[in-house]
Amino acid sequence: MVIAGAGPTGLMCALVLARRGVPVVLCEAEPSLTHDLRAGSYHPPTLEMMAPYGITARMHEHGLQVRRWQIRSRRGGLVAEFDLGLLADVTPYPYRLHLEQHRLTPIQLDLLRSERCAEVHFNHRVTGFDDEGDSVSVRFESDGVPGTVRAAYLVGADGGRSTIRKRLAVEFEGFTWPEQFLVVSTPYDLAQHGFAMNAYVADPVEWAAVFKMPELWRLAFPCEPGLPDDALLDPAAVERRMQGFLEKPSAYEIRYQSIYRVHQRVAAEWRRGRVILAGDAAHLNNPLGGFGLNSGIHDAVNLGEKLARVWRGEADAALLDLYVRQRRAATIEQVQAMSIRNKRLLEERDPAVQKSRMEELIAISNDPQRARAHMLESSMIAGLRKSMEIR
Ligand SMILES: Cc1cc2nc3c(=O)[nH]c(=O)nc-3n(C[C@H](O)[C@H](O)[C@H](O)COP(=O)(O)OP(=O)(O)OC[C@H]3O[C@@H](n4cnc5c(N)ncnc54)[C@H](O)[C@@H]3O)c2cc1C
Repeated sequence: MVIAGAGPTGLMCALVLARRGVPVVLCEAEPSLTHDLRAGSYHPPTLEMMAPYGITARMHEHGLQVRRWQIRSRRGGLVAEFDLGLLADVTPYPYRLHLEQHRLTPIQLDLLRSERCAEVHFNHRVTGFDDEGDSVSVRFESDGVPGTVRAAYLVGADGGRSTIRKRLAVEFEGFTWPEQFLVVSTPYDLAQHGFAMNAYVADPVEWAAVFKMPELWRLAFPCEPGLPDDALLDPAAVERRMQGFLEKPSAYEIRYQSIYRVHQRVAAEWRRGRVILAGDAAHLNNPLGGFGLNSGIHDAVNLGEKLARVWRGEADAALLDLYVRQRRAATIEQVQAMSIRNKRLLEERDPAVQKSRMEELIAISNDPQRARAHMLESSMIAGLRKSMEIR
């Protein structure tokens, strides 16, 4: 097997295959793992899936266990709080674990490197492929030198701008939000102001998402469309935003800031012959709810297990279409639907609609049965169960 992309999806898929004795070559375009600040919130099913590989235990050495999360209103403060402890009977991890994505991938890589069946090549950009029916010939470039490697299957886990998806000429259906997102990290302790370690703050003008990472608090805000990145990242502008979010007498210490564009897109096809897409290469969503990286891991485990069975001759290649059916359904019906709904909830401009939605959330949080159903859904447990019933 050849996997393009050593992000969390590609690394996970490689590890699932290698543990089952399947030879796997992982090609990463960059000279090392990427270090930018991206995802950092892991839902219970993701922790369960990574546990047999030894990843979850290592993540717990530094990760934060976040049991409570909040919906807040920028003007009115706390609206509703949910306690994931209510799910202790359905998962050994009744919390979200917070740990930066760039601290997950080195754990995955380290474990992968101890597998005899796995080869990892940095500086190897996959440039194309030829599906030859009984195998696939994968083209790559390393320091400007072209090469090829033959494989039973090629997994395109090469991120949102996937070369593999483009070479397949598969439509990336959906839309791009007009506003970019600004991500800011600060050591300033928001807990002293009542913030749980994960909070979503509704506001018709400037909603916010708050995540406590092991050392820093990370905030995401929407940006006015049309403004250049330089203006959005100007330290004075960032400080104004932070003060607007929570006023304090001294300036905020900002450790990291970046801007990124947000999409809701799903590839029209996830498998063609011997080439299969997974993770961001197959789907993108906004970060409200923390589903992107989690669903990439879910793809990787589902696909890796099925590919191993096909490779060993225990199942027909049609099993790979079941991966597509199960994971596309979870992506479209759950991840896309919930992330769009979450964003619309936070940014609702009509005060009457906002008020009624917030009242509904208060009612849900005050009713243990409804709160449990809400958490089963928002923790990706209900959606995964439903998708795994697909045959
Ligand atoms: C700012 C930000 C915040 C986010 N917050 C969250 C969050 O809170 N929760 C959440 O769940 N998700 C979040 N996400 C999404 C999450 O980061 C992605 O879903 C996740 O990185 C997907 O992993 P991946 O392995 O599929 O793709 P990527 O992480 O993009 O990895 C793809 C890899 O492929 C490599 N590559 C690209 N092209 C080639 C090629 N041709 N050949 C070989 N290698 C190639 C790239 O260098 C990269 O290493 C966020 C994303 C961003 C940008």
